[in-house]
Amino acid sequence: MAFDPELATQAYMATLNGAARAKSDAYFEGGYWIILWDAVVGILAAWATLKLGWARRLSASVQARTKRKWLQSFLFALPYMLLTAIITTPWVLYTGFFREKQYGLMNQTLPEWLGENSIGVMIDALVVSLLFIGIHVAIRRAPKAWWVIGSGITMTGLAIIVLISPVFIDPLFNEYTSLPDGQVRQSVLSMARANGVPANDVLLVDASKQSDRISANVAGMLGTTRVALNDNLMKQPVDEVRSVMGHELGHYVLNHIYKLLIAFTLVVAFCFLIAARALPWMLSRWGQGWGVTSLEDPAILPMAFIILTVIGVFLTPVTNTIIRTHEMEADLFGLNAARAPDGFASVAMKLSQYRKIEPGKWEEIIFFDHPSGHTRVLTAMQWKAEHLDAPDVR
Ligand SMILES: [Zn+2]
Repeated sequence: MAFDPELATQAYMATLNGAARAKSDAYFEGGYWIILWDAVVGILAAWATLKLGWARRLSASVQARTKRKWLQSFLFALPYMLLTAIITTPWVLYTGFFREKQYGLMNQTLPEWLGENSIGVMIDALVVSLLFIGIHVAIRRAPKAWWVIGSGITMTGLAIIVLISPVFIDPLFNEYTSLPDGQVRQSVLSMARANGVPANDVLLVDASKQSDRISANVAGMLGTTRVALNDNLMKQPVDEVRSVMGHELGHYVLNHIYKLLIAFTLVVAFCFLIAARALPWMLSRWGQGWGVTSLEDPAILPMAFIILTVIGVFLTPVTNTIIRTHEMEADLFGLNAARAPDGFASVAMKLSQYRKIEPGKWEEIIFFDHPSGHTRVLTAMQWKAEHLDAPDVR
């Protein structure tokens, strides 16, 4: 009997139904609204700091404290970021903790989650404040062309973060250890050697302390690149682990980190270009009322946030599509490397725990940053259909 990829895909889809499918659909579809409400909450928080005069007062106090412009930018941005994090805490608690708990996707207690979230907030605040020093210098020196220099500064900042994350940031949240010797380690390292990945170690990360989500990742660049699988993935059959790790090796071999860095710099440049036009307009329209009248004032930061947040929402399908097309490439690379299409299909089904399995075509384009379960299973079954006679395909 001929093997039909469509029928094989439907057979996989039929294994997820009833309450389990309704739950993962509801979880993921709720996320569409969260994109919008995240933006609304962020904009309201920034607007409140302007309207209530907090931004103006904070700016006046840092300007009284130092005459150094770059230091004013930094000293404004750091407390400002912490202030908005406090204002938005109830919303972040709901989306980040209680909602996750409600869907059975959270293994942490509230104090544990709050501890990690605070570290995250502080890192974000520090990164934004450092970037704002450079970008604000560019804004003051080149009020029309700052978006070009600002994008360059942001790209440099992003590259540094990618470079240092595996060494300084990731270990703040999880423990990374060498994967113990055994079938999984041997076969992942063998796949790495066969595909030109200079790895002599595979790391295991204790992600189950946060949730039961199955995952793996490649992080770092230049000398800090590392491949890690999480302990939830490690509990799955070896063909499923190999399939996921083949995908991760694909990210490495296809230089996705560098390509994404370039792609996102272009997105940032576009956002900054719009902001460079919108900021002066916003200043002349509302600046007087908010006590912020010049681009020299560090209190333009909340205004820039409002503008960038609005653009960010509209660019969601673009950023998702940039990531998703790279993920699709990694899927195909992984199928060729692991040669276990049913392993890949069954692990793709398990990822539906936190991702809607069968979205509509446009729904996938707009909201998905990874191929949907249906797309992934179909891709695997099409690969299988072309390799039915291959003796080594399991
Ligand atoms: Zn991936």
